[in-house]
Amino acid sequence: MNEKIWLSSPHMGGNELKYIHEAFDANWVAPLGPNVDGFEQDIVSFLEGNVQVAALSAGTAALHLALIECGVGYGDEVICQSMTFSASANPIAYQGAIPVFIDSEPDTWNMCPRHLREAIRDRFAKGKKPKAIIVVHLYGMPAKMDEILQVAKEFDIPVIEDAAESLGSSYKGQACGTFGRFGILSFNGNKIITTSGGGALVCHSQEDKDKAVFLSTQARDNAPHYQHSHIGYNYRMSNISAGIGRGQMEVLTERVNARRAMHQFYTELFESVEGVTVLSEPSSDFYSNHWLSAIVLDAEKVGKNREDLRLALFEDNIESRPLWKPMHMQPVFANSPYYGTQVAEKLFKDGLCLPSGSNLKDEEKLRIREAVDTFFLTKP
Ligand SMILES: *Cc1c(COP(=O)(O)O)cnc(C)c1O
Repeated sequence: MNEKIWLSSPHMGGNELKYIHEAFDANWVAPLGPNVDGFEQDIVSFLEGNVQVAALSAGTAALHLALIECGVGYGDEVICQSMTFSASANPIAYQGAIPVFIDSEPDTWNMCPRHLREAIRDRFAKGKKPKAIIVVHLYGMPAKMDEILQVAKEFDIPVIEDAAESLGSSYKGQACGTFGRFGILSFNGNKIITTSGGGALVCHSQEDKDKAVFLSTQARDNAPHYQHSHIGYNYRMSNISAGIGRGQMEVLTERVNARRAMHQFYTELFESVEGVTVLSEPSSDFYSNHWLSAIVLDAEKVGKNREDLRLALFEDNIESRPLWKPMHMQPVFANSPYYGTQVAEKLFKDGLCLPSGSNLKDEEKLRIREAVDTFFLTKP
């Protein structure tokens, strides 16, 4: 059996262990510490905006705190892109709030600004003002931020950007994660860089960051004993994880370039295949880190469907995965309102994510090429 080719696997840069050793030598084996400060600073420098960053235990935790800081509570409504990973929407439920899902538009597969406006109008008509809008840059592709921010401004609703998959992406030259009232990043094991598990909240004021740090460290009031006037969380990043993060930040630009090269590989591979479209930047306004390269396969033109391709790759021990199943189609969110047509549903039916790791070797790419070529040359 050939060795497994993964969709996206961790890729260390080399200096991660150095930072972990420093933490051990100083006995900073705790949450907080110099690596946490250093990692936050590295992210701030990379994002280049006027931002403050709080390193946390997960991207999901960052989203949860963003919702709390936007004042989302029991019975409130929060608008969320449907085509995403469940962690974008789960924190809405943590707060006892109700997600309102929005369809994708076909260019970026992200939140459709037209359906967003329609949804807000309709929620207003029903006497509900949504408390926040969660927009996602899925697979690294920036959402149409100009249009989305315009709608958000029109109705005075804060935007939370889920940039978990898009560190290193930008829109009109501005880093993803820095457009909204808050942005969130993830350093989970499968993301473009990893701390083995972790996330960050991107803020635009010291006050917002301080509040996130306060809430993420059990909300301890200023007193010699343990005193609490808020419900707290244990969401801070550890100094060991942050050490991995510092090593990873040194190679982030290389990782982005390698993922973009994988996208180029697939663009060339599918160039002459009728019925396959590779998700690509709609114009030079969009710069994607291409965290995952993804395609849609038109079964009528190809004569075989997405699932046939997935299974053919699986036969050769090559991992691929259907696009994320939209939230409005998930049993757990079956009762949530949804605004849109069938764009996300169709993407889910025909779409496939392909191996995109920055550490794929030439012989692995060759195996992928051969498996794909064989699939499309073989008659159904
Ligand atoms: C990974 C991911 C998250 C969650 O991040 P964690 O660090 O795993 O909690 C949220 N949203 C999207 C779109 C993701 O891909």
